[in-house]
Amino acid sequence: MDCLIVGGGAAGLNAALTCRQRRPEKSVALIEAEQEVGYYRTLLPQFMVGRLEEERLFFWRPGDDPLLSVRPGMHVECLDRANQSLRLGNGEKLQYDRLILAPGGRPLMPPVCTDASCRGIFPVRSLTVAREVREWLAGHGEIVVLGGGLVGVKTAIFLRISGFAVSLVEKEDRLLPLVLSPAAAGLVKDHLSRMGINFHLSCVVEEIRTGGGAIKSVRAGGQWLPCDTLLVGIGSAPTAGFLEGTGLLENGELAVSPALQTRDEKIYAAGDAVAIFNSAGEKFIPWTWPQAVSQGKLAGANVYKPMPLPLALLTRPNSMNLHGLSMVILGAPTPGAEAVCYSSPALSVHRELFIKDGRIVGGALVGDISGAGPLHAAMSVGMKIEKATYDDLLQPHGRVISRFVGDFYGQRRQARLLLPQESTI
Ligand SMILES: Cc1cc2nc3c(=O)[nH]c(=O)nc-3n(C[C@H](O)[C@H](O)[C@H](O)COP(=O)(O)OP(=O)(O)OC[C@H]3O[C@@H](n4cnc5c(N)ncnc54)[C@H](O)[C@@H]3O)c2cc1C
Repeated sequence: MDCLIVGGGAAGLNAALTCRQRRPEKSVALIEAEQEVGYYRTLLPQFMVGRLEEERLFFWRPGDDPLLSVRPGMHVECLDRANQSLRLGNGEKLQYDRLILAPGGRPLMPPVCTDASCRGIFPVRSLTVAREVREWLAGHGEIVVLGGGLVGVKTAIFLRISGFAVSLVEKEDRLLPLVLSPAAAGLVKDHLSRMGINFHLSCVVEEIRTGGGAIKSVRAGGQWLPCDTLLVGIGSAPTAGFLEGTGLLENGELAVSPALQTRDEKIYAAGDAVAIFNSAGEKFIPWTWPQAVSQGKLAGANVYKPMPLPLALLTRPNSMNLHGLSMVILGAPTPGAEAVCYSSPALSVHRELFIKDGRIVGGALVGDISGAGPLHAAMSVGMKIEKATYDDLLQPHGRVISRFVGDFYGQRRQARLLLPQESTI
């Protein structure tokens, strides 16, 4: 086989398709531990509660490309770099000329929730488990969601609008603590509270009670909450165990350059499994769906290039609608950055930018997402922002934003004329 790819999530599948497109003469095999590839992991909360049919989860199905083979249900056990081969769970050995690692992350489970014999406790991560949850929910309606990040919040919303009683337990003192300031997070919490979701912030699940082999209640912040279903969405850890001893891990992390190349020039890696290090040694772990897609495409394009290209953007705006409350995350709060904001609580609007050395380094728009594209573009190209314009910049439909649009698209038109086709990822 010319190119092997480990992991058929957003990163791995996009790597496979791009590699086939860019190098039609090269054969590609995609190895995936789950039974399916090509589904939107981000839509699992809708699917679990029965608001989306399984067919609609899929954005890709294997076709009739003879040089692209997909091997679902196959686990890669180990990598032998010296012999350029992988060993699968069934003992099979596969040789490669080039390898792309995209094994994503595995869901974290707090020790108190890991009693395998206790029914009703599920991590929110895979389609296989989401199918089990969908069936289980038919006879169980008192739900505790553990984790107030993106996965937990989305899960809680879809459960609530489907009529379930939902309590959300979060260790930090606010929702979405990694991406929102306390003020923006407060707005999201108020919106979700009005929907009827109960919050237990600054709490962890301390203990669980079971009955008849299934979960019955959980103790969080000293209070016992009725619970016949515990859904865990507290984040994920990169899947790197099978790479131990290969020399590709740095302090346990799968380290790659901005061109997504590992220490081994024949091996690239992409998505939630990687930590990107730039030439200054700074680390980036932009673990989102849009990043997994663009990194996968870049890894697939770079894998046979003598001069691989670096990733154009280390951030991608992440937009979502939290049951009527629109939100765009431009980038997480950054240490040392000044936070500037426009807030209109009466209209449920909070728009914030994090600015460092006169440049936007992150931000979030909640309730009014106008100007998200130009603001992200200004952030991506490192545009210098005058302090006097901050207020106007943050206003919904501000004049400065309209000017950005003109400047930015003017620059993009020029860039298109200057750049060769291949470098426009
Ligand atoms: C419920 C949910 C909602 C989310 N919502 C959002 C959202 O709104 N916005 C957003 O930006 N992000 C969201 N995310 C995160 C987003 O889904 C991930 O960032 C993205 O899926 C990462 O893609 P990936 O390809 O790197 O990894 P994954 O999607 O994890 O895919 C990796 C694949 O590799 C396979 N694999 C691992 N090890 C092996 C092995 N040894 N052998 C064979 N196969 C292996 C795994 O089975 C897996 O299918 C959400 C995640 C979840 C779970």
